[in-house]
Amino acid sequence: MEYCLTIDSLSKKYRKFVALNDVTMRVPQGAIYGLIGKNGAGKTTLIRIICGLQSPTAGTYSIYDAPYSSKEIYKSRRRMGGIIESPALYGNMSAKENLKHQFLLLGKPSFDEIDKLLESVDLKDAGKKPVRNFSLGMRQRLAIAMALASDPDFVVLDEPINGLDPQGIVEIREIILKLNKERNITFLISSHILDELS
Ligand code: ATP
Repeated sequence: MEYCLTIDSLSKKYRKFVALNDVTMRVPQGAIYGLIGKNGAGKTTLIRIICGLQSPTAGTYSIYDAPYSSKEIYKSRRRMGGIIESPALYGNMSAKENLKHQFLLLGKPSFDEIDKLLESVDLKDAGKKPVRNFSLGMRQRLAIAMALASDPDFVVLDEPINGLDPQGIVEIREIILKLNKERNITFLISSHILDELS
């Protein structure tokens, strides 16, 4: 089996505080992998580490077989997209303008894919509405579109359903399932709500 992510005996200490203790896990390619844990269990810490924002205290991980300490990890990370904690969106801009900004940051040569991206997260009809007037569900869906802008194979979502109403949760669920099936994107999703994640 091929894995997007391989984690072996990963630990993280903040001074004497143990935030992650000996975590081993495998995320197979094509999976929707749920990372369950109550508040403070260390989910965000783990996600920050695999995104390269923090270093582990002990243990190792690899993304697409590239060990985190190797040069190849930078290439592997380019295949990843994600949302960590609250997504950074410009409130005074529309969904389309936010995505254009993201495309510019990524150095993408054209905006042609933006309409398709908006459609894939059900925001085609959001029009010129500024993001500050979006519902939480709309913001989360736009954040997923932002994470997809780099055309990743592996997407990491930290608590994507946090605070959403049941309808909002269903919408996110359907989008994730569709992207997984149609574009073969692997997902790692954290949540503290076991029922919803399952
Ligand atoms: P939540 O769902 O509440 O965000 P979580 O599972 O994502 O929880 P983390 O944010 O990874 O948990 O935090 C794990 C533990 O590590 C918490 O007790 C937190 O207070 C602690 N922690 C996180 N970052 C730091 C830091 N920079 N310095 C010290 N302690 C930290």
